[in-house]
Amino acid sequence: MNPHHILDHFQGRQEAIIASIREIVEIESPSFDAERSKAVVLWVENEARKIGLDLYIEKIPAEEYGEHLIIRAFPGAGKPALLLGHTDTVHPVGTKLANSTRIEGDKFYGCGIFDMKANVVLMLEALRYFAESGSKPARPITILLSCDEEVGSYTGRELVEREASKSEFCCVFEPSAAGRVKTGRKGTGMFTVKAHGIPAHAGLEPEKGASAILEISRQIEKLHALNNISAGTTVNVCTVKGGTTSNVIPEHAECSIDVRFSTMDEAERINAAIRGLLAVDERVSLDISGGINRPPMERTDTVAALFEKARDLAALFGYELGETQVGGASDGNFVAALGVTVLDGLGIAGDGAHTLTEHILVSDIAKRATLATMLLMLG
Ligand SMILES: [Zn+2]
Repeated sequence: MNPHHILDHFQGRQEAIIASIREIVEIESPSFDAERSKAVVLWVENEARKIGLDLYIEKIPAEEYGEHLIIRAFPGAGKPALLLGHTDTVHPVGTKLANSTRIEGDKFYGCGIFDMKANVVLMLEALRYFAESGSKPARPITILLSCDEEVGSYTGRELVEREASKSEFCCVFEPSAAGRVKTGRKGTGMFTVKAHGIPAHAGLEPEKGASAILEISRQIEKLHALNNISAGTTVNVCTVKGGTTSNVIPEHAECSIDVRFSTMDEAERINAAIRGLLAVDERVSLDISGGINRPPMERTDTVAALFEKARDLAALFGYELGETQVGGASDGNFVAALGVTVLDGLGIAGDGAHTLTEHILVSDIAKRATLATMLLMLG
């Protein structure tokens, strides 16, 4: 493979790629909007069919969410490379009026452009390169786009795990961090602690009451004491509510807890500690729910080795590729938990995911497409 030829190809297609990105971004597709999910999936399907490769395309209905999409190309011997992404965005319909799809200087703005519709186009462009150049990827390619990633992958997870377990390695086209790929992601957990105390008149007989709010505040101290920053573990109480009115000792209070961890050992330590919380005031009872959601994506030796290969490929055309580890989880976490090598954050550089300043950098499009294509040619 000649990296400069590949880069030339994508630079020559830049205007066409920009036009495609504009089209997919304009089809707003927030999670839980089944009709719009189907509309964006249909657009991807039609674009894929125009490429002229022999493709096997499967749409998997997901009630309430829309459709997941699988595209298989270059069938043959050997395990495929899995290209993972999602078609849902966090932006409600109409948000495109507040962040219109437009280019200003090097910034290409749009709702869901960075996370991660431009990168869906990138996957198709890699297929198109193979169709037009006649060169072949090193192994079969499977593209999986889920439609509920932004809201926890409750229906997509099974598909992600099924396809990942059959794959040689997995490239996740989630946003990069200032261009850096993600070689580690924390795992996540969510818990709720509810306290049930004894109500009483705050003026007449407060001694008969057992305050649920006081109990929750004591538990919050214990929860925050579980933090272990050097181990990569964070525990944060993110919401608190309780009480009814100003002259009543509160009977009910509760808090929700966000937990992040870098290793399963830490996940188990935190899970056991939260599950084992005991009320300080024995008259108050605690009800604890929730648990671990996504396991951590650890920077294993094979992940580090794949990153180094990607960095070396990028260097061949003068592109500097960095890496980072982040607190946010993605479907890459499910893949990593199966022991499959993952490189995440392969998307086009940009910023502002989930906000009204969301954008990608036009100058990064061809370079990122070149890198993705070269990764697929890696023997
Ligand atoms: Zn995303």
